[in-house]
Amino acid sequence: MSRIYNFSAGPAMISAAVLQQAEQEFLNWNGSGMNVMEMSHRGKEFMSIATQAEADLRSVMNIPDNYKVLFLQGGATAQFTAIPMNLLRGKTTADYFNTGQWSKKAIAEAKRYCDVNIVASSEADNFATVPDKSTWNLNPDAAYVHYTANETIGGVEFDHIPDTGDVPLVVDLSSTILSRPIDVSRFTLIYAGAQKNIGPAGLTLVIVRDDFIGDTLPGTPVTFDYKVQADNDSMYNTPPTYALYMAGLGFQWLKELGGLPAMGNINQRKAEKLYAAIDNSDFYQNPVEKQYRSWMNIPFTLNNAELDTDFLAGAKAAGLVTLKGHRSVGGMRASIYNAMPEEGVDALIAYMQEFAQQQS
Ligand SMILES: *Cc1c(COP(=O)(O)O)cnc(C)c1O
Repeated sequence: MSRIYNFSAGPAMISAAVLQQAEQEFLNWNGSGMNVMEMSHRGKEFMSIATQAEADLRSVMNIPDNYKVLFLQGGATAQFTAIPMNLLRGKTTADYFNTGQWSKKAIAEAKRYCDVNIVASSEADNFATVPDKSTWNLNPDAAYVHYTANETIGGVEFDHIPDTGDVPLVVDLSSTILSRPIDVSRFTLIYAGAQKNIGPAGLTLVIVRDDFIGDTLPGTPVTFDYKVQADNDSMYNTPPTYALYMAGLGFQWLKELGGLPAMGNINQRKAEKLYAAIDNSDFYQNPVEKQYRSWMNIPFTLNNAELDTDFLAGAKAAGLVTLKGHRSVGGMRASIYNAMPEEGVDALIAYMQEFAQQQS
């Protein structure tokens, strides 16, 4: 059976090369006679897989030595809770940007543990932009500043890393991690669920500066405590072993491809051509202010919403699936993460042009 182009926002496509390698190793990983799922997480085979995955990620992202890499569970959503629990450190207030649906969820959870100061919000603009710097209200006494680099639902992405002075910066990188180079040293903490741009669901990545580990809020669950996780190499309890193995294959795939600079060039080209196709037609629209358009999640609407069902049916017949927009936005959304081949974007553009022509 041939592979389809899946534009799902997550869980999302995984590169065919990674899937094929997993298939080759499925019954017998590296002469062990076992599938990776069957291995003890403390055995030497799996330990070598976990160690290699971390080393490859460190090399791909250029992670400085004074940062711990934690492989956790619970998704980015669990981090909405773990972040205030680990980073308040005696303070009672934290700064949050409100740029979309994921920001809102992070804010709602943080409010259970501290006062939240909204640095800036684009809610009044339907989350179609990032608020201008001149409007930001940063609190110098905040325990940390949190922002969502890429809003997966709205398709809005910061085009720069906010400058927060001495206040620690925390970023939800779930839907844009590994899409291009990023300066890890600008952050105190980076987190991401795996199912967008890393690998299978079930794995959650946290990269945290080591001097911010420890001193958690009383009552912090043991699995949420970065110190416990760091002291135990993310193996205080059983980690999501197979998801971590798959993520590791993905890191190797990225390295072979030329790392994040090469991946960034491909992603930029993919996004630019899809936006150009939208902007050059009078049939499709993207609502996001150009400067803040996401490279990864591209929402678009048709001139006539009554044609949405036909558009989706025709797309499916052409092997282009999961294009329906999020229920809160409507229309369509094409998620084009690292594993979406450029040919998939070309096929979508060709289909969009053909569909628009049929309507005129
Ligand atoms: C998907 C997503 C989340 C939630 O991830 P879960 O793994 O489902 O908890 C949080 N933030 C962003 C930006 C996302 O894209």
